[in-house]
Amino acid sequence: MGGSLDARAELSVDTAQRLVRAAVQAPSRRERVALRAALGRVLAQDLLVSNDIPPFDTAAMDGYACAAAELDAGGNADLRLAGSALAGHRHVGSVPPGCCLRIMTGAPLPAGCDTVVPHEQCIDDGVRVMLRGARPGAHCRKRGEDLACGAVALGAGSRLGAAELGLAAAMGCRELRVWRRPRVALLSSGDELRAPGQALGDDGIYDSNREILAALATRCGAEVVDLGCVPDRVDALRDALLQASADADLVLTSGGVGGGDADHLRAACADLGDVAFWQLAMRPGRPLAFGRIGQGPRAALLFGLPGNPVALMVAFYVMVRDALLRLGGAQPRELPRLRALAQTPLRKRAGRVEFQRARIARLANGGWGAWSTGAQGSAQLRSMIDADGLLVLPAAQGDLRIGDPVEFIAFEGLA
Ligand code: AMP
Ligand code: MG
Repeated sequence: MGGSLDARAELSVDTAQRLVRAAVQAPSRRERVALRAALGRVLAQDLLVSNDIPPFDTAAMDGYACAAAELDAGGNADLRLAGSALAGHRHVGSVPPGCCLRIMTGAPLPAGCDTVVPHEQCIDDGVRVMLRGARPGAHCRKRGEDLACGAVALGAGSRLGAAELGLAAAMGCRELRVWRRPRVALLSSGDELRAPGQALGDDGIYDSNREILAALATRCGAEVVDLGCVPDRVDALRDALLQASADADLVLTSGGVGGGDADHLRAACADLGDVAFWQLAMRPGRPLAFGRIGQGPRAALLFGLPGNPVALMVAFYVMVRDALLRLGGAQPRELPRLRALAQTPLRKRAGRVEFQRARIARLANGGWGAWSTGAQGSAQLRSMIDADGLLVLPAAQGDLRIGDPVEFIAFEGLA
């Protein structure tokens, strides 16, 4: 990790993201899975096209196929009908000079035909067809036009969504080689935490964070190992961290990461590994540890996330998501940002970058407007529920007024 920094230092988000990226290693283990099971997985090798797509010259419209040479300068011709072709039913035989073929979308074009004239431009009396205003070469998909044999259809590192799986199916793949899912061990820490079903007593709260982390990690392609709630004791946390790191690639903890009397992550990590930073110059999510537990190839990366649920979620989106996708072999792109105009005043203290929750909608002038989801306390999960995403308010930014420009990152597609 390049040595620990001053424990009180607040790292900028950019610097922290760079440190994390440098520490993350690509996966090494692959497996083969059936196409249907590959949704959300990451391709572990380039997928080369083994058959041209489309595999033959294909009609792209319902109409009549002919040779462009039959058309006069105005794109007109008067031809004899030589038969018909449907998708899945190739015309057997040739289309002699002076003839055309009735053809439907998806049908193979017969040899010699390179033009399809949509049926609206044709008059067919059952024997002869008048073609009007045709464009030579129009409405044909050439063999290999989408993907030619030997081309890379999908690169290693592609995350497999609907389009990718459709393309793999179009190439006749039944299975794909994908990276093994990264294993993510998660735990919550806090004496106040109760599992749903347990009595709360007079000083307990239910544990939200393991649910949140399990959901977020799963959506980023991880296999989740849930280690439950750990009490606020150094030895208990230490044991849990050791257990968590034993066969996980990444350990996510929640709570106990600050400098308070019941915050023991720091002490628990002391001789287990190497922590690169403990605090980030961001809100929410300031106390946030990143490091490594264990040594050598069996070491696991660690994110110690803050206990407040909103802070935990923001920290995940800003810091963990990219790392987890990379651990899974993906090559995530920088998230697109929208420019919106604030439609509610936004309180912002200069000093740290702030990620506030907002809804967005189109304004009458066609641009995007952003509305705060209300109270932005880092424990107020409600502010996430109504949000479409995060406003990114830079460190130097102060309060914003209605109409001020803001940057917005959408949650949709974050996982
Ligand atoms: P900590 O980061 O441990 O100082 O916790 C900060 C705040 O988050 C405290 O109010 C905790 O009670 C709360 N908190 C910690 N862990 C969880 C959790 N798993 N679910 C809900 N709230 C939590
Ligand atoms: Mg705590």
